[in-house]
Amino acid sequence: MIESLVTPSSSMSPLDERLRVMAVDDDDAFRAFVTRVAGRAGWVVLAVDGPERALGALDSFNPHVILLDLTFPDMDGLSVLSELAPRCTDTAVVLSSGCDPEVLRSANRVGARLGVRMLEPLPKPVMMEDLVQTLQAFEAGEHAVTPPMVRKAMDEGAIQLAYQPKVCLASGVYRGVEALARWHADGDVISPGRFVPVVERDEGLSLRLLTHVMSRAAAEADAWRGLSGRCAVNMSALCLSDQRLPQLLSETLKGTTVKPRDFVLELTETASLQNPDRVEQVLTALRIRGFAVSLDDFGTGHSSLLHLQRMPVNEIKIDRTFVATLLSDMRSDQIVRLMVTLGHTLNASTVAEGIETEAQAQMLRDMSCDVGQGYHFARPMEPEQLATWRKTWTSQPPWGPSISGG
Ligand code: C2E
Ligand code: MG
Ligand code: MG
Repeated sequence: MIESLVTPSSSMSPLDERLRVMAVDDDDAFRAFVTRVAGRAGWVVLAVDGPERALGALDSFNPHVILLDLTFPDMDGLSVLSELAPRCTDTAVVLSSGCDPEVLRSANRVGARLGVRMLEPLPKPVMMEDLVQTLQAFEAGEHAVTPPMVRKAMDEGAIQLAYQPKVCLASGVYRGVEALARWHADGDVISPGRFVPVVERDEGLSLRLLTHVMSRAAAEADAWRGLSGRCAVNMSALCLSDQRLPQLLSETLKGTTVKPRDFVLELTETASLQNPDRVEQVLTALRIRGFAVSLDDFGTGHSSLLHLQRMPVNEIKIDRTFVATLLSDMRSDQIVRLMVTLGHTLNASTVAEGIETEAQAQMLRDMSCDVGQGYHFARPMEPEQLATWRKTWTSQPPWGPSISGG
């Protein structure tokens, strides 16, 4: 079987608004599996046996998602990705291969750097539930939310903030908060995982979300400001493409009681950074105005050593995936130690996110990591709850009274 297309009449009507997935794999059984599973999940499927056919059918089939193998007789998956990149601005790619998981993750990062929208890869053998979950997550999270919907939500004040405290690991002293966007819709709360990826594909919308979050945080400053309390806001790297960013952020704070020095800009999705000179210039201008800059999700594919060389950052934020495996995986332990040392060498403070247990907190404290954030200290909360949390926290931090006074 070379090609199979699942549609009611085996040709697709232009009015067919169902989601389309293209499977590119030289394994007959795998193509049959995807055709069956995705077809049952309501998707239109085109399964082809190699890159040449895939590239040929790209424009006519216009898939929402491509499931791509990494090895073909004449071409490897990375070469396919580089051919796809300029032609697939709206298509998401899921790599699916039986190769070493490290290689699969690296290939995913290569794809992201090429500008392809990469979803979580599927290691082979692929379980039916995993494929269905990938397709459903795409359907729920990506397809349903559109940029105009996000804009409208901001205009109507439906995107509000939850604040998660950060504390000094050595002394327990409150260090400030991270402001996290929460979209309140019909009694439900839509998490950033569902709408931030949509925002981060659009420069204008990324800037709009940043100023929205900053002005809300400025209006709610009484809730989070403390002696040394700063508010961290997430900033997609896409925002750095606009040289007017420092001016725009200063204007956002005009007439409020807060200053740039009250904010930390946590830079996310740095995989999309393209012009290092521009990035350095804009970040330096932000620093001159008083904003602190942090590299978020440090250690993942999005944020790397390469950036540290040119970026004037005050802080690196160790990704929570390393913290989660700190006690069980020797490699995470070594990597976190290196990140803490690196931060200190660069005169940047180190923040560990996703701390869920005292054992993790203690280990990070022993490594001299500066600041901690995570459910162990506090979950993200509404601004009104912060005062109560701070009162309780100051009177009894979880690791006992001996270091609470520092
Ligand atoms: P992030 O900046 O790394 O934020 C930390 C995320 O970890 C938050 O998820 C937080 O709720 C979660 N978290 C905190 N402590 C723990 C813990 O102990 N265990 C676990 N498992 N998770 C913990 P959230 O709020 O769902 O945000 C997810 C991501 O969405 C953020 O990751 C950030 O990259 C993005 N995001 C959130 N708000 C905004 C925003 O206003 N603008 C932009 N551009 N991105 C945002
Ligand atoms: Mg963050
Ligand atoms: Mg993070």
